[in-house]
Amino acid sequence: MRLASAAEAERSVDVVVVGAGAAGLCAALSARDAGARVVVLERDAKPAGNTALTLGMLPGAGTRFQREAGIEDSPDLFLADIVKKAKGKTEEALARAVAEASGPAVEWLNDAHGVAFELLSDILYPGHSRHRYHVPKSRTGVEMEEGLLAAARRAGAEIVTSARVEGLEADETGRVVAVRYTDRDGQNVTLGCGALVLATGGYGADPALVKRHIPEMSDAVYCGHDGSDGIALAFGEQLGAGFADLGAYQGHCVAAGPALPVTWALVIRGGFQVNREGRRFSNEMRGYSEQASAVLAEPGGTVFTVYDARCEEPALTFADYHRVMEAGAVLEADDIEGLAAKAGLPAAALKESFLAVSAYGSGESADPFGRDFSGNPPLRPHFKAVEVKGALFHTQGGLAVDTGARVMRAGGTALPNLFAAGGAARGISGPSSDGYLGGNGLVTAVALGRLAGASAAEIASQHKRES
Ligand SMILES: Cc1cc2nc3c(=O)[nH]c(=O)nc-3n(C[C@H](O)[C@H](O)[C@H](O)COP(=O)(O)OP(=O)(O)OC[C@H]3O[C@@H](n4cnc5c(N)ncnc54)[C@H](O)[C@@H]3O)c2cc1C
Repeated sequence: MRLASAAEAERSVDVVVVGAGAAGLCAALSARDAGARVVVLERDAKPAGNTALTLGMLPGAGTRFQREAGIEDSPDLFLADIVKKAKGKTEEALARAVAEASGPAVEWLNDAHGVAFELLSDILYPGHSRHRYHVPKSRTGVEMEEGLLAAARRAGAEIVTSARVEGLEADETGRVVAVRYTDRDGQNVTLGCGALVLATGGYGADPALVKRHIPEMSDAVYCGHDGSDGIALAFGEQLGAGFADLGAYQGHCVAAGPALPVTWALVIRGGFQVNREGRRFSNEMRGYSEQASAVLAEPGGTVFTVYDARCEEPALTFADYHRVMEAGAVLEADDIEGLAAKAGLPAAALKESFLAVSAYGSGESADPFGRDFSGNPPLRPHFKAVEVKGALFHTQGGLAVDTGARVMRAGGTALPNLFAAGGAARGISGPSSDGYLGGNGLVTAVALGRLAGASAAEIASQHKRES
C-alpha cells in the first residue's frame, strides 16, 4: 500500500531517526531540544554501531576544556587542518560547518545532556595542529554510545530497538511521508514522519559496494559494524539523491592475527614500521588511514610496528591496546637481534633501520620518506613489535548533504524533508583515504547529527503549520 501523507500511517511523529549511533542519537537530542516528537528506529537489540567500536575520540575546536588547559584553538584552525589533510579536496562549506559546530557540540553534549568528556592532551595525532580530541573518561566508544543513548532517553526520544527499516514511502514531490520497518516480533510497521534523518552508517559491511567504490580495500579485513550495509545509499537512490566522495574511507592497522585495532599512539613518539624485509617503506606520520593500503601493498601484506616503552606509554591509557597485549600480539626482546628472531625478520636489515631512524632523529641525515623524527630519542631496549595488516574501519562517502545536513538531489536542489549525518552522509575527507584526518568520523556524526535534528524538527513543524 502506498501512502500519500504521514497522516495515513498507523502512527505518525514529527521526526523519525533511523540508526542509534552517534549521528542518530545527536539528531534525536537536538530534535527533542527543539520540541519535536522523536522516534529512533534501531535494527539491533542493543544499539552499538561503529560508534561503540571507536575510542570515543571526538574533535572539538575552541572548547572551554581547551581554554582551561591553556590551548588556543578555533574553528578556523581546525578547518585549516581538515583542508590540508584532504589536500584541498574537501567540500569546504561543509567542512567549515562541521568545524564551527564541533566545539559547541562537545559542550552541548557535556553541559546540556550529561554526556561527559575530557580533553585528551597527552599526544598530538597526525594532522592536528592542536590538542582537540575530547574523550569519555574510559576512552572507549562504548561509554560514548551508552552516554548518548541514556541522554536521548532522558530527553524524551523514543528508542525502538530490533526495528529494521526496510523501505520509505514518499509523495510525488520526494517528501518522505513514512518509513516501513520490521519490529522485534517480525511484524511490518509503518510509521509516518514530518521529517526523516538517515543515520544508518556507511557501506563498509557490503563487500560488493566496497569493491565498486574502494577496490584497493576489497581484500582488506573489515573491522566495522555489520549495520553499515549501505542502506542509506539505496534509500537515496530511490529518491533521486546525489552522492559524493564514495571513494573516501578510514583505514587502520590491526594486529595480523586477531584483527584488533593497534593504536597509532605507538608510532607518534618515534615508533616506526618495517616490512618483512626489515626495512621502512613509508612516512608513518602522513596519517594512519592511508597507511592501511600502504601496508597491504608490502610483500606478504603484513608489516611490524616497532617501538619501545616510551612510545608505548600513551597507548597504555587505551583499553584497546590492553586487548592487543592480552591476545599475545606484542613481541618483546632485550635487543634488536632478539626482536628480529621473534618476528622472523632479517636481523641485519632491522638493525640498519634502527640506526637510520636514530640518525634521522639526531639530524645526522634526513628520512627519504620525509618523516620528521626530530625530538624523538632513539628507541631503547627493551624493544617491542606488533605484526599488523591494513584494515577498513569505515567509509566516508555517502549522500550529498548541504551545511544543514539536508540531503541534496543529484541535480543540486534539496529534497523536501530528508536529512543525513555520520556514515550515511558524505564526509569532509575529500574523495579518497589519504584525506582522512583522525576524528573526521565522529565529528561529522556528532556535529552534522546535531544540525540534522534541529533542521528536521524545524521542517516538520513548518510542514505541520502549512498542512
Ligand atoms: C574500529 C573503529 C574505530 C574507529 N575509531 C574512530 C575514532 O577514534 N574517531 C573517529 O572519529 N571515528 C572513528 N571511527 C569511525 C566512527 O565509528 C564512525 O564515523 C561513527 O561512529 C559514525 O557514526 P554513525 O552514527 O553514522 O554510525 P553508527 O555508529 O554505525 O550507527 C549506525 C546505526 O544505524 C543502525 N542501522 C543501520 N541500518 C539500519 C536500518 N535499516 N534500520 C535501523 N537501524 C539501522 C546500525 O545498527 C547502527 O546502530 C572508527 C570506526 C571503527 C569501525
